[in-house]
Amino acid sequence: MTNFAKKASMKKRPATKNLGLASILAASLTILPGVVASTPALAQKAKPDSLNYGKLLQKIDQGEVQSLEIDKTERVAKVKLKSKGQKKDNQVFKVKLLNQNTELVNKLKQNKVDFAEVSSANSKSVVELLIPLMWIFLLLTVILLFLRRTTNASSQAMNFGKTKARFQMEAKTGVIFDDVAGIEEAKEELQEVVTFLKQPEKFTAVGARIPKGVLLVGPPGTGKTLLAKAIAGEAGVPFFSISGSEFVEMFVGVGASRVRDLFKKAKESAPCLIFIDEIDAVGRQRGAGIGGGNDEREQTLNQLLTEMDGFEGNTGIIIIAATNRPDVLDAALLRPGRFDRQVIVDAPDRKGRLSILQVHSRNKKIEPSVSLEIVARRTPGFTGADLANLLNEAAILTARRRKEAITQLEIDDAIDRLTIGLTLNPLLDSRKKRLIAYHEIGHALLATLLEHSDPLNKVTIIPRSGGVGGFSQLILNEETIDSGLYTRAWLKDNITMTLGGRAAESEVFGEAETTGGASGDLKMVTNLARKMVTMYGMTDLGLVALESQNQNDVFLGRDWGNRSEYSEEMASKIDNKVREMALSCYQEACNIIRQNRSLVDKLVEILVEQETIEGEQFRTIVAEYTQLPEKQLATSS
Ligand code: ADP
Ligand code: MG
Ligand code: ZN
Repeated sequence: MTNFAKKASMKKRPATKNLGLASILAASLTILPGVVASTPALAQKAKPDSLNYGKLLQKIDQGEVQSLEIDKTERVAKVKLKSKGQKKDNQVFKVKLLNQNTELVNKLKQNKVDFAEVSSANSKSVVELLIPLMWIFLLLTVILLFLRRTTNASSQAMNFGKTKARFQMEAKTGVIFDDVAGIEEAKEELQEVVTFLKQPEKFTAVGARIPKGVLLVGPPGTGKTLLAKAIAGEAGVPFFSISGSEFVEMFVGVGASRVRDLFKKAKESAPCLIFIDEIDAVGRQRGAGIGGGNDEREQTLNQLLTEMDGFEGNTGIIIIAATNRPDVLDAALLRPGRFDRQVIVDAPDRKGRLSILQVHSRNKKIEPSVSLEIVARRTPGFTGADLANLLNEAAILTARRRKEAITQLEIDDAIDRLTIGLTLNPLLDSRKKRLIAYHEIGHALLATLLEHSDPLNKVTIIPRSGGVGGFSQLILNEETIDSGLYTRAWLKDNITMTLGGRAAESEVFGEAETTGGASGDLKMVTNLARKMVTMYGMTDLGLVALESQNQNDVFLGRDWGNRSEYSEEMASKIDNKVREMALSCYQEACNIIRQNRSLVDKLVEILVEQETIEGEQFRTIVAEYTQLPEKQLATSS
């Protein structure tokens, strides 16, 4: 025991000496070497008789070692010596090992000593050390989270009035007038705004007051935002933009403070352009809104009006607002000195569509054979955004089909995809497929045989997403669509053609077997027939306009308080007329189908087999059986 104690203290000393300098500098550090040295000291304290590495090797050579366990992590070996007569069995020694113990291992192997490697004690101690650390860490995170939440909540509550800049500022929009196409009149009007921003002296010199606000009015996707950006881009001024909906907040007064903030920032960087999108969200008529007044919105609007009055015309700030509901705007917004200029940005006509297509095809690879002219013709009603999307869809299809450049086929597919839906897998030949085929052939045949109908582009029974089993597509007449000048004959034939699907179903399968698949057709028929009666004065009810033209142009018309002024008696007369007209057209459709029954059957056979019949092929087949009306012949040649 004493012997051992001496040894241990001797072992300690050199270690302390190594750190001697440090221990002089800081007395507390002396504990460190003590700890470091403690492992071997304790290990040897455990057993009275000591054994070192050299002795261990000797003992192995002498064959006195029974078994040995090497603990690599702690670098000790637990040695069990062979029991000698006078000593107790299973005496265990711990021996400190070197870094590399190749000699030991070799000797063990030579002398065939039983040995093994373990590392148990160590990993356990690591875990034991980590557990309290983890607790501390957990506690700290909880405290931190708690602190952060409380500070956040309080700062939110206190700062709600100060705007977290909800508007965007673009120093340079990079958009020029050349990027905007198809809305030439609007562009021309706004050209002047660029001059206001660039050379206000020109106007102020002659005493002209520069307008402060321009209201862009038009349906979504026609390029209002783009146009505003182009103005800023052409004038080279910063572009501040905010959406009307950003003004309307939960807390009263927040919107107003946003307006203040926006104008403050704008004044700092004048000349500049402020763009307020969806101004109808904030600029609705005060006190007249559906769902009661909204204090917050009124305050915001008042603030906007105040700000607009608050700066003189020559500060170099021009405000452009966009809306698709000018009718709901508060009159105060529209009076001179505010948004006194209104520019209509309407959906483009065919020429406009062509130039928009040209703009958006600049950065796309399109096969030279593609005629954008035809694409423009085939996309009545498409806005600029629709056309941009169309070309993008076509490009995606092209990439998917691993083609080099966009062809007419991809564009046509993209048009169908956007107007009708995604194609689905064709149905297997079944009763349902035949029924759909008869329905579609009904439409297609009538479109071809009726004199005033638009000619067929194609008929298909490849289903599309959204529950479309098939469709017949006509080549719409651009002039009628754009001018809205539908003739009575065209409207009537159109109703008959639309009823052709249902007529074919009932002629072939019997009235009992007709399906609900024609519900969309019927809606269209009612709509058209109603217009003929109440708006166009095309029936014997007389030349009276019972409903206003604007009613269906929701974006330009008031959508509330718009009941037409006619008596109950007139209402039932209108209903009767609509029904009468639909019925007579339906009978005509049934007649034509009945008279051409064998042709219908043949067309259905071809359609079921081919899934799609193009207009050209369709007319050729029909011409073999019966004579095509002149108008249809003209388009097919
Ligand atoms: P709005 O603001 O009227 O809803 P946007 O200006 O946001 O429409 O138009 C969306 C996108 O559609 C534009 O970024 C542009 O790519 C395309 N686009 C719309 N109108 C036109 C146009 N007249 N000329 C070229 N591109 C257009
Ligand atoms: Mg927009
Ligand atoms: Zn139909």
